[in-house]
Amino acid sequence: MSVMVIIPAAGSGTRFGGPIPKQFQPLAGKPLVQYVVERFLLTEAARVVVAIPELLLTTIKQAPGDRVQFVAGGETRLQSVINAMKAAGDGYDVVAVHDAVRPFFRIDTFARLIDVAREHGAAAPALPVTDTIHATRDGRLTATVDRSNLVAAQTPQCFRFDVLRDSLARAEREKFDATDEAGLAAHFGYDVQIVPGDPFNIKITRPEDLALAEAHFAEWSSE
Ligand code: C5P
Repeated sequence: MSVMVIIPAAGSGTRFGGPIPKQFQPLAGKPLVQYVVERFLLTEAARVVVAIPELLLTTIKQAPGDRVQFVAGGETRLQSVINAMKAAGDGYDVVAVHDAVRPFFRIDTFARLIDVAREHGAAAPALPVTDTIHATRDGRLTATVDRSNLVAAQTPQCFRFDVLRDSLARAEREKFDATDEAGLAAHFGYDVQIVPGDPFNIKITRPEDLALAEAHFAEWSSE
């Protein structure tokens, strides 16, 4: 029984600014997504499927048995994940979905998530929210949200194959979009267990995050 990893990396990354989408920005000399793929090759993952912008596909040579497979992404992150799932075929018992822009996921946390997903159906890493969260309207604070039950989601999020396939199929049928697959699976009634995440597993969204990532790199790479 084996594990497949899906990495949606087909966004245009406009929030990052500049001509290069954030997932292709260099960290320690390598594009972020390459960094992430190479890290998954150190795990038990049998296959890593990367959704990239369609234009880039023509520049990549691949053979059917390759451990890393590239597919064309879609209009939305969710559509990119759906494309990857369809292209990879079946024969996997667990599927993980991981943001291309989180290079510092922990391999031991990934192993734990796989185990919990096998047992419960789905598992997602998350951290308690420590900031005070306010609701706003037109730049004005309108209410303070009770943060005691809030967590901030991370990836890799892991699913039994049938759980993710069913959640994606229902989302496609019902035109339901979600910002992550854990939220999707929970929306369709699956048990999504929360596993403690890691503060260093940051999502590189803004240029300042890259500077932070470079600063953490030396310490983390000696793990
Ligand atoms: O924009 P956001 O931060 O939500 O993107 C999360 C991940 O989803 C990124 O790695 C991005 O490249 C990917 N994505 C994708 N296809 C899209 C939009 C985003 O693979 N159409």
